Amino acid sequence: MKAVTFHGERDVRVERVEDPRIQHPADVIIRVTTGAICGSDLHLYHNAIPGLLPGHIIGHEYVGVVEEVGSQVTAFRKGERVVGAFHVACGRCRMCRREAYNQCEHGGVLGYGIAFGDLAGTQAEYARIPFADTTLRRVPDGLTDEQALFSGDILTTAYGAVANSGLQPGETVAVIGCGPVGIMAVQSALAMGASKVFAVDLVRERTDLAEKLGAVPVPSGEVNPSSRILNGTDGEGVDVVIEAVGGSPTLKLAFELVRGGGRISAVGVTAEDTFAYPLMNSLTKDVTFRIGLANIHRDMDATLALVRGGRIDPTVVVSHRLPLSQAAEGYRLFDKREASKVILDGSL
Ligand code: NAD
Ligand code: ZN
Ligand code: ZN
Repeated sequence: MKAVTFHGERDVRVERVEDPRIQHPADVIIRVTTGAICGSDLHLYHNAIPGLLPGHIIGHEYVGVVEEVGSQVTAFRKGERVVGAFHVACGRCRMCRREAYNQCEHGGVLGYGIAFGDLAGTQAEYARIPFADTTLRRVPDGLTDEQALFSGDILTTAYGAVANSGLQPGETVAVIGCGPVGIMAVQSALAMGASKVFAVDLVRERTDLAEKLGAVPVPSGEVNPSSRILNGTDGEGVDVVIEAVGGSPTLKLAFELVRGGGRISAVGVTAEDTFAYPLMNSLTKDVTFRIGLANIHRDMDATLALVRGGRIDPTVVVSHRLPLSQAAEGYRLFDKREASKVILDGSL
């Protein structure tokens, strides 16, 4: 089969590789019908992930059709359309039993190299999905591949960040970063009953899109986000801040935007080891700060239902649709920010 493989910094290729096969009775082999390039794939593209060997198949956003099932798989049959989480979880260990699927003792991330379980990725014609009963969901009737796709990663990441904040109906929210994850955090917060969502990004086109979806745009390249948001909340600050960029500057901003007694929920990935925590500000303001990886298995059914019910349209972020054979061009465009989200369709 053909697959997208990693060869070094900014060097990904579409190559002929061996077909995947069932390695464990809980595996399923899928024929990938639609995939995408994720913001997290750019960390690989920049050679910033240790333990990624040349030739490793990458990618972890996928929808497909079940081709073959292992003997322990009970939930799926050949021919069914499925969407899956970007990280796999066994469903049986201590962590999974606590619904901490992102902490699974046997877990890993598809297409992310040795440090993440050494699992081949899904930017390929076929892929092996471990622990399929836990990791996959049937695509609900009536949903296209593209509508279902993001429940396996960025939509559910965004939704989970809002859920982790404990958002109550009627509360105000600021989302920092309006990339695909931030846009979906805006959509999730509105769907979960936020009264007002401020959308902060340096790039005006990105806050324009958030505005179309119902947010108050805060183009932070042009206006001071702190004064804009304090003014917009009677001087209080927002109840909840969602940080969807990654790194110190935007975490620092989150502490400025949150009201006394409010909550910050961060999902942005960063290579920084430490962050100068604003201890006195946090102490006096009684701020709750939470950061963590997405817990897709916990929230995937909820996001699929919101998409199916027409409450969230995740396809608004898609700017490019390319065949798998043009994946290298897709990575280039996405890396240069000429594409906001690249779909790789199943064709070659
Ligand atoms: P992206 O890079 O496409 O979007 C980031 C956005 O932040 C861009 O629109 C950019 O203009 C904006 N931005 C950058 N600096 C800013 C600043 N100082 N102030 C305001 N806006 C700023 O990324 P994405 O795909 O939307 O993902 C967002 C983050 O979430 C990434 O770090 C990604 O790796 C992470 N992520 C985390 C998980 C998880 O499990 N925690 C899962 C998926 C993605
Ligand atoms: Zn991802
Ligand atoms: Zn587990």
